[in-house]
Amino acid sequence: MTALINLLDLDPAQLVAYCGELGEKPFRAKQLQRWIHQFGARSFEEMTDLAKSLREKLTTRAIIGAPAVISDHTSADGTRKWLVDVGQGNAVETVFIPEENRGTLCISTQAGCAVNCRFCSTGKQGFNRNLSVAEIIGQLWMAEFELRKTKGVVAGPKGERQITNVVMMGMGEPLLNFAPTVTALRLMLDDNAYGLSRRRVTLSTSGVVPMIDKLSQECPVALAVSLHASNDELRDSLIPLNKKYPLSELMAACKRYLEFAPRDFITFEYCMLDGVNDSDLHAKELIQLVKNVPCKFNLIPFNPFPESGLKRSGNLRIKAFSQVLLDAGIVTTIRKTRGDDIDAACGQLAGEVQDRTRVQLRMQKMDEYKSRFGENFGKIVEIVQ
Ligand code: SAH
Ligand code: SF4
Repeated sequence: MTALINLLDLDPAQLVAYCGELGEKPFRAKQLQRWIHQFGARSFEEMTDLAKSLREKLTTRAIIGAPAVISDHTSADGTRKWLVDVGQGNAVETVFIPEENRGTLCISTQAGCAVNCRFCSTGKQGFNRNLSVAEIIGQLWMAEFELRKTKGVVAGPKGERQITNVVMMGMGEPLLNFAPTVTALRLMLDDNAYGLSRRRVTLSTSGVVPMIDKLSQECPVALAVSLHASNDELRDSLIPLNKKYPLSELMAACKRYLEFAPRDFITFEYCMLDGVNDSDLHAKELIQLVKNVPCKFNLIPFNPFPESGLKRSGNLRIKAFSQVLLDAGIVTTIRKTRGDDIDAACGQLAGEVQDRTRVQLRMQKMDEYKSRFGENFGKIVEIVQ
C-alpha cells in the first residue's frame, strides 16, 4: 500500500499535478484547495460538490493533516498561544495577536534554531529540526479555523477571515528552512487558499544574505531584518551569524531586496538591551548604518528569560533612543509587549521543550493524551485556564 499523501504539504501547482495523477481536471484542485484552506474541511466527505467517486478515492489515498495542538492559552490581553506538536518530542508555538483592525498570526518555521542569538530563548534550546510545509501552513490552517469556532463563525471563505496578517517571527530562522517556507508563503498568497496580499505577510530574518536574494526572486513578501546592533563588533557578539554575513553585506542585500519587495521599506527590528545596545551613540551609529536603505525601525523591549543574563532597557531609555531615530527622519515604533502572562512575547517562544526540567513532564502528558485519545490525539485542543 502506498503511503497516504498529506494535502497540506502541497502548493497550488503540486495539487493540480496530484489531481492529474488521479485523472482529475485542474479545476478540481482549486475546489479541493478552497475546501481545505477556506472552509477548513478536515475530511473529504464534507466536500459535497466533489463527485462521490473522487471523495472515496481521496479518502483511501490522502489526508488533511495539520499538526496536533498540545495546549491553547489565552492571555488577559486577548493574545492566544497554541503549543503545536511537531513530533519526536518537539513542539513549536503559534501566537495570535488581535488588534482593532487586524489579527496577526505569528508562526514558527523550525523547532529550535541554529543561529543561537544571545538574547533569544529559542536559540538557547539549539536546533531540533526543520518544519514541513504541512507543519508551517498547518499553523495558519489550525489557528484560522480555531478562531472561527471561538467566534461562532461556522465556515466560509473570504469576508469571515480572522487572520488578516501573518508574520514569520515565531521559533526558528525561516531562511534556513527555505523551500518549505516558500511553499507555505505561496499558499498564504494564493486566492484559492488564504488570499493574503504580499504586504500583509512578513518574513523576519536574522540576516541570511544569499537567501534574502533568493526570496526576492521566488516570493518577495514584506521583509523584517533583526538588526539589534549598530556595528559589527556588537552584532557579532549578539548574533553569531553576523560573522558570516557582516553588516555591509546585509545592508547591500536589503537594498537589493527593495527592488522586488511589496513595500518600499525594510523593517529593522531592534531588541532593546539595557547597557548593551541602547545608548544615544548606538542610535546615531544606526542612522549612519542605514542611511542608504529606506527603512522603519521597530524597537522591541527585550523579553527576559532566565539564564540570558540580559536586562530590558528602561522605558525612558527606549523613548530617548527612538527620539534620536525620529529626529533623523526615520519612522520608529516601539513594540507593545503582548501575551507576557502566557510567555507568548517575542523571544520567549521556546515551547516547554526549551526548559529541560519540563521535558519529562511534557512527554508524560503527551503519552497520557495518546493513551486516552488514541487515534484522536491530533484532534485534542486543551484549553488551559
Ligand atoms: N529567526 C528570525 C525570526 C524569529 S525571531 C529572526 O531572528 O528574525 C523574531 C524576532 O524576535 C526577532 O527580531 C528576534 O530578534 C526577536 N527576539 C528574539 N528574542 C527576543 C527576546 N528575548 N526579546 C525580544 N525580542 C526577541
Ligand atoms: Fe534564531 Fe531568530 Fe532566535 Fe536568533 S532571534 S536564535 S535567528 S529564532
